[in-house]
Amino acid sequence: MARYTGPVCRLCRRDGMKLFLKGLRCDTSKCGIERREAPPGQHQYRRGKQTDYGLHLREKQKVKHYYGVLERQFRRYFQKAEHTKGNTGDVLMALLERRLDNVIHRMGFGQSRSAARQLINHGHVTINGKRCDVASYQVNVGDVIRVKNRAKSLDRVRAALAENGRDVPDFLSVTESDIPEGVVSRLPQAEDVSIPIQAQLIIELCSR
Ligand code: SF4
Repeated sequence: MARYTGPVCRLCRRDGMKLFLKGLRCDTSKCGIERREAPPGQHQYRRGKQTDYGLHLREKQKVKHYYGVLERQFRRYFQKAEHTKGNTGDVLMALLERRLDNVIHRMGFGQSRSAARQLINHGHVTINGKRCDVASYQVNVGDVIRVKNRAKSLDRVRAALAENGRDVPDFLSVTESDIPEGVVSRLPQAEDVSIPIQAQLIIELCSR
C-alpha cells in the first residue's frame, strides 16, 4: 500500500504523536497520524539524532500543546508544583488536568479543549450555580459544572455530547438530563492524563 503523505495537523506532526486537538476528526480515519505508517514530518527519513535536550523539550511542548497553555502559564504551574508536597511531575500533571477547559472537554461538553474554552469564554457554563468564564479555573472535589439553561448553550453542549466518542474519566461523573451537568468526584491524578507523558523529563528541563 502506498505511504500516506497527506496532511497531519501541525502540532501533532511536530510532537510526533496524537494530541487530540481537532475534536471528532481525531477519532476518525481522517487523522493524519493514524494514516501515516512512517514517522510524521516532510523529512521523516532524513532526521538527525535527537539530542538529550531535544527529548526533554519535546515532552514539555507536548504537554503545552495538549492543554493549550503558553510558556508563561506553564512556568506558573511548574512553580506551584515545585512548592506542593508530593512528586513534582505528578503534581504538575494533576494541576493541568484540573483546568476547567480540560474538565469540560473530558466530560464531553466540548469536542476539543479549544471548543471547551470557547464555551467557557462565552459564558455557557456555571460552577456551583455561578457563572465562570475563566478557562484556567482549578476544579475542586464536589464542584458541580452545569450548562446554562438557555437554548444556545444547551444546543451546543447536547450536540457535542451526541458526537462524543470518548469515555468520561472516573474522576468525573456526568448526568445527561435536561440540563447536562458534571460533578468532580475526586481530584485527578497523573494517571488520569490520556496521553503518555514522561513528566520527569519536563521537571529535569524546567529545573535547569
Ligand atoms: Fe489532527 Fe487530531 Fe490527528 Fe492530531 S490527533 S493529527 S489534531 S486529527
